[in-house]
Amino acid sequence: MKDKFSILTGITPSGTGEIHIGNYFGTVVSFLELQDKAERIHFFMADLHGLTTVQDKKQMQQNVETQILSYLACGLDPEKTIFYRQSDIPQHTELQSILNNVTPLGLIKRCHAYKDKLQKGLDKDKVNMGLFSYPVLMAADILLYDPDYVPVGEDQRQHIEVTRDIAERFNHIYGKTFKLPEIYNVKATAKIVGTDGKRKMSKSLGNYISVLADEKIVKKQIMGCYTDPKRKHATDPGKVEGNPVFVYHDLINEDKKEVEELKKRYREGKVGDVEVKERLFKAFMKRFKTERERYQQLKAEPEKVKEILRTGSEKARQQAIKKMVLVRERIGVSNKYSFYKYE
Ligand code: ATP
Ligand code: MG
Repeated sequence: MKDKFSILTGITPSGTGEIHIGNYFGTVVSFLELQDKAERIHFFMADLHGLTTVQDKKQMQQNVETQILSYLACGLDPEKTIFYRQSDIPQHTELQSILNNVTPLGLIKRCHAYKDKLQKGLDKDKVNMGLFSYPVLMAADILLYDPDYVPVGEDQRQHIEVTRDIAERFNHIYGKTFKLPEIYNVKATAKIVGTDGKRKMSKSLGNYISVLADEKIVKKQIMGCYTDPKRKHATDPGKVEGNPVFVYHDLINEDKKEVEELKKRYREGKVGDVEVKERLFKAFMKRFKTERERYQQLKAEPEKVKEILRTGSEKARQQAIKKMVLVRERIGVSNKYSFYKYE
């Protein structure tokens, strides 16, 4: 790995746009580390990708807003990160349209996103083209900016391979134009269990604790959390290992002494679930105090948020236009009558 490197990463505003503690400890924390390490980092909201599943205007607007505010609140620093919305940079879709022509159908048919839908029983003629060609838009998202690395989880590895394939084909036909991105191996963090105690925490399963939701909602999420199913009374000895309430205490509660004490009392049947949860709630409010305050401040200042995005998209757009000037030149759509230029 190089000393100085550039990174590009994105998020899709599907679900509700909220960040839950699984997302936070699973990805946000490592993004914040990368933000400090990378020489240049692009972080974009893939709202156009979101259209493959979110087709309700209000929901789209709401998800995008929540997600933008959430990332900024959790520490995305616009001084360090080029932060923008995909739909603010028309070059993403322009490049996708050009890349379509060097992308074999077979390559895309082998992609998980599409294959998964078929496996779930969806008729292949009903899969929308947005979902089908998702990997081509993703290739465009990346190739516009020549990042060294794209941090992805296991499920997205294949799409990066596709991006490299598409870039190679283009470079082969038209001469070197795009840098082939490498996968940045995100440390595989163990999936955090959901409040149902059974499956991984996930927005679509509704078994989550939201980092930035209203206090009342968070309280409800925490108090409704599954604990040790075998324990009927506070005086029964309880199991701590794998018990979601203690998994979260370990992650969130900075008072380690309190956590050890609670665990001990729980094992001995000397503390009730309610107290353990109430202490978790308190620890949660303390741990995320800054983020939660920042969220409210940002929400109250839409002009400021808009300005952050404007600055980010201007930086990104300059780079995107520069790349498109080269692409247009390479494919032969520019000639002496052209006036598309980099300004
Ligand atoms: P959905 O239910 O819509 O799939 P989600 O809650 O699973 O939403 P994603 O948007 O799929 O969240 O994931 C965003 C990021 O958070 C991904 O990088 C994913 O690996 C990580 N992540 C999601 N859930 C967890 C979890 N329970 N533990 C650790 N990391 C998680
Ligand atoms: Mg998921």
